[in-house]
Amino acid sequence: MPRSSVIPLHRPPSPSIARFLIPGWLVAGTFAVLPSPSFAQQSPPPLEVVIANGRVMDPESRLDVVRYVGIQGGRIRAISDTALRAPVVLDATGMVVAPGFIDLHAHGQTPENYRLEALDGVTSAFELEVGTADVDQWYTAREGRAAINYGVSVGHIPARMAVMGDSGGLLPRGPGGTRPATPSQITQMRQTIERGLQRGAVAVGMGPTYTPAATQWEVLEVFRVAAKYGASVHVHVRGGLDTIAGFQEVIGASAITGAPVHIVHLNSSSTAQTAKTLQLVAEAQARHLDVTTECYPYTAGMTEIESALFNGWEARPDGDFAALQWVATGARLTRQTFLRYRKQGGMVILYNNTEDMVKLAVASQLTMIASDGHIENGKGHPRTAGTYSRVLGRYVREQGALGLMAALRKMSLMPAQRLEYRVPAMRDKGRIKVGAEADVVVFDPGTITDRSTYERPAEPSVGMKYVLVGGVPVVKDGKFDETVKPGKAVRGIVR
Ligand SMILES: [Zn+2]
Repeated sequence: MPRSSVIPLHRPPSPSIARFLIPGWLVAGTFAVLPSPSFAQQSPPPLEVVIANGRVMDPESRLDVVRYVGIQGGRIRAISDTALRAPVVLDATGMVVAPGFIDLHAHGQTPENYRLEALDGVTSAFELEVGTADVDQWYTAREGRAAINYGVSVGHIPARMAVMGDSGGLLPRGPGGTRPATPSQITQMRQTIERGLQRGAVAVGMGPTYTPAATQWEVLEVFRVAAKYGASVHVHVRGGLDTIAGFQEVIGASAITGAPVHIVHLNSSSTAQTAKTLQLVAEAQARHLDVTTECYPYTAGMTEIESALFNGWEARPDGDFAALQWVATGARLTRQTFLRYRKQGGMVILYNNTEDMVKLAVASQLTMIASDGHIENGKGHPRTAGTYSRVLGRYVREQGALGLMAALRKMSLMPAQRLEYRVPAMRDKGRIKVGAEADVVVFDPGTITDRSTYERPAEPSVGMKYVLVGGVPVVKDGKFDETVKPGKAVRGIVR
């Protein structure tokens, strides 16, 4: 037997080769790897876990058949159409077996958030829009304590807050957002971002809507640093009067500097302009610009009431404030409570979109699915717990707005590909293939559904039978296992 047929067990094929392998290779014969007498001494270690008899769906190879998946050492080692043996066999009969979901927009990076995300099928969660100014400290705080994989960007917002002396929390509430920066202050921000990239940040975060005093030149300066390190810039674009201008600013910055750009939550940043902003992204891609985007499946957003997003709201008519819901109590706001809470600070839900626009964004083949989630002590937005199951239950099964494979691609392969130049480890995520990391979801496509609501945001989704992170089940028979913490840091590399 030629040596090449043994390679997958000992050394995963290089991603550039794997990309061109046809599904038939992955599933050739009864077993991806056959025992060979001449390699008896090198025989592979026995499988540790087998996912048995599930409908294996891989968005990269488009494999969609019933198979057995064998796992050893945290990686997928075999994909077989006949039974495999291992001490642990997880029955997936009637279930879909797919790559674990990769959330590129997860602000909640605590055990409480990881539990809800795991029960929704997420195996890797990244905080990329806001990010951090101290990459080392961010990773150290999670080492050995995370149920799912985690990663962070170095953020322009926190870098600007540090340089300008802003006392806000997640987002600026003072000079970090509203004071123009001097050239030397911009240099300091660039240095913070550069240091973060050297320390393994997976991307660069940015949100000019929260830092309205940042000029277009300051935005370009941030993109220039990202370009130097091959890092994508994950941006909450400027809102205000002209949504299209917000998109043009960062697509232009990407074209000028060469840094890839990822526009976060196209749904809430576009609302009534969704068809137009999707067209912009498609046109930029047709011009070979590295522009990507994401959405979440809800008509309301959530952010900090003290942030610059609400600058100018004081002048709005009384009726507008009912579109806001105070997270701590669930009450709708009035002009009086808006003014009081804006001084106090805290999370507010903003009902600003229509179901038609959300459906347009979710069904588009251009968007990835990302939660933008953040839960604290059970309070927050239902998207933390429900994003992925809601897409699979509501938009795939109930409405037929998109196909199951298309949805899985938006949840796993596309986000892996977004990061894989800067983070080569992502080439072994987001796929069911021999050699890939064993981040796998096993779910019932007939019942999977979200249960979280604006009133009860921390209700976990149902339908995930098993969720494996590096081959370790963190969800077993639909229950989260508090005792295992297989999540690992995901970092960028410096070339
Ligand atoms: Zn966000």
